[in-house]
Amino acid sequence: MQFEDLHREIIQDHYRSPRNREKLAPEDQGAVLDNPSCGDRVALKIEWDSDDTIARILFDGEGCSISMASASMLTEILIGKSRSEAIQTAQQIHRIFRAEEPAEALEEFGDIIALQGLINYPVRLKCATLAWQTLDLLLKEEGT
Ligand code: ZN
Repeated sequence: MQFEDLHREIIQDHYRSPRNREKLAPEDQGAVLDNPSCGDRVALKIEWDSDDTIARILFDGEGCSISMASASMLTEILIGKSRSEAIQTAQQIHRIFRAEEPAEALEEFGDIIALQGLINYPVRLKCATLAWQTLDLLLKEEGT
């Protein structure tokens, strides 16, 4: 199987069988962001453990396969992380998407490596980063 085909397959799998996706009532949506250029919307909710690690992270929303797969991957990456680990991970992933770090670094985070082919496509990259921007917003709002 070609590398690109494998990545497309991983994206489709997350799109068809999203992890940690749940219908979230508006009051449960910790943060919501839209990507108007594609019609994507991602809402996130984090439930923190008493030791400030992520016990559950859920997403809701609609949009293209990349935006939804990216949100699904995000939840898998972040579950069990502490607040500071979550912030560091988000910062590193933003650096990789901005091509400030090699794309191969995505590999340590699992399935998200499948998005590496989008790094040179700004329009599709907006879809891929939407969930991570929503996370930034959520962590910022909770931090204040
Ligand atoms: Zn999109």
